[in-house]
Amino acid sequence: MSDDDDPVEAAPEGSTCGEHPDRSALVTCPRCGTYVCLACWHGAVQRCHACLLRDPMPPVPWADEAKDVAARLFGTLADAFSPTRTAVKFTRGEWRRGVTFALVTVLPIAALAGVVPFTHLLRFGPLGEVHPIGTPSALEHALDVAQALGLGLLIGAAKLLVMAAPYLSLTKAYGQPSDAQPTRQVLLYRGWLLVLGGRTGLLLQLIVWLLPLEPGDSLRLGAEVLSILPLMALLWAMTATARMARVGPLAAVVVVLVPFIVLFLAEPLLIHSLRPLLPVLSE
Ligand SMILES: [Zn+2]
Ligand SMILES: [Zn+2]
Repeated sequence: MSDDDDPVEAAPEGSTCGEHPDRSALVTCPRCGTYVCLACWHGAVQRCHACLLRDPMPPVPWADEAKDVAARLFGTLADAFSPTRTAVKFTRGEWRRGVTFALVTVLPIAALAGVVPFTHLLRFGPLGEVHPIGTPSALEHALDVAQALGLGLLIGAAKLLVMAAPYLSLTKAYGQPSDAQPTRQVLLYRGWLLVLGGRTGLLLQLIVWLLPLEPGDSLRLGAEVLSILPLMALLWAMTATARMARVGPLAAVVVVLVPFIVLFLAEPLLIHSLRPLLPVLSE
C-alpha cells in the first residue's frame, strides 16, 4: 500500500484499461497496479475506480445511524463546503436514504424563499422590517403567507426537476449505467443548494430583506454575486460526482453545464407562467 502523496506512474505505451479493454490506459493505479483509462482514474483520491469501491470510506453522515440526528444533519450540510473530497461518499450507501434529507432541507428552504417575493399583504425590509399592506384580517394574512409558501415550494420543485432530469440522463449516457447511486445521491444531498442560491433562492431574499438595499445599488449587486456561491458549490459537487459514476473528466463538465444552462433558460419562463398568481406590488 502506498501513500496518497506518491507520484502517479503513467501506464506503459500501448496498454489498455483493466476494465475497458477497448480504451487505452493512461495511469497505473498506485494501490493495485492496474492500468486504467481516464474515466476509471480518480485523481482527487489517487486511486482507480475498483480501489475506490474496495476502500472502507465513510458514508454520507446522514446515512450513519451511529450518530445523532443533529450530527447527521450538520455533518451532511458541512460536506457541501468540500465538494470534491466528499463526492467519494456518494459511491457508498443507498440513494433512498437521501430522500428524508432532501425533505427536511429542500422543502423548508424552498417554501421560505417564496415568502418575501410572493406575499401580497406584507412588505419586507429594509433591515428586517415587516409592514402590513392595507388592513387585512389575521385570516387573510395566514392565507396570503400560505399561498406564498406554496408558490416557493412549486418553484423549488420545478427548478430541481428541470436540473435533475438532464443530469441523470446524461451521466447515464456518458458513464456506467450501473453507477446511478452517486448521481442520485448528490441531487438528494445537495439539492438544498439549488433552492438556497440564485435569483429566486432564499439567500438573496434574506439579504434583500435584512440589508438596506435598493435595486441597482452596488450592495445589491454584491448580494446577487454572493447568492451564486451555493450554485457554484452544487455545480462543483455534481461534476465531482459525475466522475464517481465514471464519466470522463471532460464529459463530467458537459453533463453538469447542460442542466445549468437548461435551468438558466427555464427559470424566467417558469416565473412568467406564474405571473397571474404573483403580487402586483413586488419590486
Ligand atoms: Zn487500483
Ligand atoms: Zn476504464
